[in-house]
Amino acid sequence: MFCGEGGLTKGHVWPEWLEAALPSTAKFHFQAWGNIKTFTPRFKRPHPRNPVVRQGHIASRKPRNTCAKCNSGWMSQIEEAAIPFVRPLALGETSFINTIGQRAVASFFGLICTRVEFLDALTQAITERDRTWLTQYGIPPFSWKIWITKYIDDPYLGIYCDHFGIQLISPEEVDAPPGKCNTQATTMVLGKLCAHVFCSSVWSDFRGYSDPDLCQIWPPTQFDIDWRFVRSLSETDVASLAEALVRWLPTAEK
Ligand SMILES: [Zn+2]
Repeated sequence: MFCGEGGLTKGHVWPEWLEAALPSTAKFHFQAWGNIKTFTPRFKRPHPRNPVVRQGHIASRKPRNTCAKCNSGWMSQIEEAAIPFVRPLALGETSFINTIGQRAVASFFGLICTRVEFLDALTQAITERDRTWLTQYGIPPFSWKIWITKYIDDPYLGIYCDHFGIQLISPEEVDAPPGKCNTQATTMVLGKLCAHVFCSSVWSDFRGYSDPDLCQIWPPTQFDIDWRFVRSLSETDVASLAEALVRWLPTAEK
């Protein structure tokens, strides 16, 4: 999925140390274009079909799509580098995140987001070029945007992921048939940590949402984050954040 090498092995989507870190009740939940909860959509979905919702234990999600070299090389380096930051964030034990930590956490979620996309090929939007960048530099491309915030942990969501892949089209192309997605927004919750990853190959000047409570960690800033004063999201807030991009979209309604 990253280097085009043969000899594919079963790779995990979520690192195994997360499973050990979170309470044993942690379940995996993945949704690609699931049921929209916070508004009534007025645009075409990328493809007419039923929502994809997958649930299960974390370990059960092991698609066979990465080579051993990638798994044990740069991917495990990103995961290992993120452990000292992601684990305490997921457990609610962080008070401060420096810029090194922000970079490690951003790279971690960039990687997870890329792997999550492969669970549903039809909503896949990350380009091969961006995947190659992640492979080579171990950080997300600078065109990506990543925010983190707290999740108040009630109800306990465990490992939760909501992925929206969309095909942005110009007004002239409004009748174009559904094709390849070129923009995506993925919202993830790991215990008490929530992250939101945006990227697009056609929308370069997306500035983010109006919610000032989200902490941007990518592209990197030179400011530390005092995590004690970061606002916690509720379950409703998470659903709203997950759908923020598609809710806000310029309508190409039919
Ligand atoms: Zn590989």
